[in-house]
Amino acid sequence: MLRSALLVLTLSLLPLASQAQTVGTLDPKPLPPLANPTDPSVPAKELFGRRTRPAALEPESIGSYARGCVAGAAMLPIDGETWQVMRLSRNRNWGHPHLVSYLQRLAQRVPEINGWPGLLVGDISQPRGGPMLTGHASHQVGLDADVWLTPMPSRTLSRVEREELSATNMVRSDRLDIDPAVWTPQHTALIRAVARDREVARIFVNPAIKRALCREAGDDRSWLSKVRPMWGHNYHFHIRMACPRGDASCSNQAPPPRDDGCGAELANWFTPQMLNPKPGKPRPPLTLAQLPSECRRVLLAE
Ligand SMILES: [Zn+2]
Repeated sequence: MLRSALLVLTLSLLPLASQAQTVGTLDPKPLPPLANPTDPSVPAKELFGRRTRPAALEPESIGSYARGCVAGAAMLPIDGETWQVMRLSRNRNWGHPHLVSYLQRLAQRVPEINGWPGLLVGDISQPRGGPMLTGHASHQVGLDADVWLTPMPSRTLSRVEREELSATNMVRSDRLDIDPAVWTPQHTALIRAVARDREVARIFVNPAIKRALCREAGDDRSWLSKVRPMWGHNYHFHIRMACPRGDASCSNQAPPPRDDGCGAELANWFTPQMLNPKPGKPRPPLTLAQLPSECRRVLLAE
């Protein structure tokens, strides 16, 4: 009871809070069929949330990170030598094949990057991307992935552990800095390495984590521009890839400002208004008609 009450509190304080501490189940119930799936007012998350397999189409990210879908998604296998997928019941270990192969290559490099045995991978996308019934405004085009800030253990986690294990909160309770009891140079090394990868467009971390990275970066500060402060992201960091070359319907974001982002921009995140944002009016959920038109084809494909 206390745990769920705390969770509700945390989620209400942090609009884009990590779901890493949300426990999953070994026995996910299939969603009941929709009474009127063709009704144009049906939220797109209800439609995409019911697709359990990818669309058998050429791989393509369609639309923008928070308004789109993915065709021909690939599955990140739940186990590799140097990664394990968490919260399997969510079926969100799908992404554009470019992202999935990037994650595999990144995971292979992790032991040499920071000495961890590997990565624990959280949500990527649904099999056809699109909006989700819970969590995440983005993660819609198969180019976003959450990676836990907890190292992979050197043993294979059980299915139960993958649902129930909690990630570690890296941020101090006043949210002004990292918690030195859990934050390590290995975290900095990992995020720095990912930020230096050309195909990575942005990384999202909690502002307290950005503050630590700014302090620990040393002389080469060029990689810091891609590391963007965001609410939540205190249990995991979020990797966002640029649109794969040739995906004509995929919209990149404007590149982040070129400076290291450690000055006034970061300081603004620690103002009372930013630390305690007033909950905005919930936006009406996206409908299929509000997604790029190709997403209808992705939704309905075999
Ligand atoms: Zn994310």
